[in-house]
Amino acid sequence: MVIIIGVLELQGGYGLHHSLLKKIGICSKAVKDESDFSDINGLVIPGGESTTLSLLIEKYKLKDPILEFAESNPVLGTCAGLIIMSKKNNDDRVNVLGLLDIEVKRNAFGRQIMSKKEKITISIKKEKNIELITTFIRAPKIKNYGSDINIIGNHNGEPVAVLSRNSLGLCFHPELDDIDIFHKMMFDKTSQYYFKKIKQKDAA
Ligand code: GLN
Repeated sequence: MVIIIGVLELQGGYGLHHSLLKKIGICSKAVKDESDFSDINGLVIPGGESTTLSLLIEKYKLKDPILEFAESNPVLGTCAGLIIMSKKNNDDRVNVLGLLDIEVKRNAFGRQIMSKKEKITISIKKEKNIELITTFIRAPKIKNYGSDINIIGNHNGEPVAVLSRNSLGLCFHPELDDIDIFHKMMFDKTSQYYFKKIKQKDAA
């Protein structure tokens, strides 16, 4: 079976997700309306502006299709994508999907000028931490999270990568740094980091 990962193309930085997926040999396609969900095996919700993304999800009636798709398929959200996937955020204009039981604060890492590369630690299996340098751009902070949330990435002791069932949310932009581990987690069944192989107790 050919795996096709959809990238939500409503607004924001979707282009580099297509490039990254291509680099790792995975077909990707644009998701713009409900019919685009019929042949995809995973979905990326890119970074951008969560207020605008939220408006466009509403305008194109994509909330229910995304929620239905997420029941049995992996969804990866980066930055604004994570905000959209959260349960609660500090801006009334952003209508969230509630895929991740987290409460986030928009722009909590500072303004555009404060955007920078930071070291993060990924700990999926306890014995194997991975250190990565990646990019934060007006990134959200995760202020609270529920008991079914696995923290798989930290920055200075704060959660920046969270996994719950089929949903993975990142505060940063791995696609800007050619970091492919998170995209691979969606479909690479041979990887120990494959979504469905990760048990609650394995995550740090
Ligand atoms: N600050 C943006 C928002 O709140 C997110 C920025 C990003 O996706 N890089 O929507």
